Amino acid sequence: MRCAIIADIHANLAAFRAVLDHIERRGGVAEIWCLGDIVGYGPDPHQCIELLRQYNHICVAGNHDWAAIGKADASDFNPDAAVACQWTAQQLSPEDIEYLDKLPMVIERGDFTLVHGSPRQPIWEYLISIGSAKESFAYFQSQFCLVGHSHVPMVFRYDEEAGTCSSSQFTPSVGLALGKSRLIINPGGVGQPRDGDPRASYAIYDSDTGMIKLYRVPYDVGITQTRMVKHNLPIRLVARLSQGM
Ligand code: ZN
Repeated sequence: MRCAIIADIHANLAAFRAVLDHIERRGGVAEIWCLGDIVGYGPDPHQCIELLRQYNHICVAGNHDWAAIGKADASDFNPDAAVACQWTAQQLSPEDIEYLDKLPMVIERGDFTLVHGSPRQPIWEYLISIGSAKESFAYFQSQFCLVGHSHVPMVFRYDEEAGTCSSSQFTPSVGLALGKSRLIINPGGVGQPRDGDPRASYAIYDSDTGMIKLYRVPYDVGITQTRMVKHNLPIRLVARLSQGM
């Protein structure tokens, strides 16, 4: 079975469509695993929720999903994110709100645990450092954990014998072979990449080969930026999409 692993769509419909097209061109997947933050920052929150719901999928809640429906406190957001959050809240239909409200914080699926931030704090914690990643391995039971939130494709590996943790970039060219090690894997962000590469980022897991492969998908960033300007979304959020930062 093949599954697409996507995170942080952030209401970027052009990026999300490009990823879905890319998946279709690779023969499609049985299921989409979404790691949260469908909305926030971008110009098409309602459309992105509606499009995701057309697919066989599972999805956990992200901090922006909760903030947009008033379930999480947006006071921790920077001013630009807060403005976008307020605007997002006004774009959601009652069905969108109900859908976001029902998203679980954690999903366990076979060998995988899915969360947005970290297994310790599923909504808010960023896993960027080896220190916090190492501690995280105590907070999930499965062999692998899938996270989003940082928008940076990364793999953390736990060495059981040495009791140490290491990190590596998750690069598009080489597939990640799932072996015996426990891993925390971030597929990068679909709608607002932050690793200096503006292309949408996502991964495909193939249970037959035991591989996860990362893909970077170019999309027309200008379409999203034009729509953001039309809706008076903060200019810094518009500009960062070109840089992938
Ligand atoms: Zn995010």
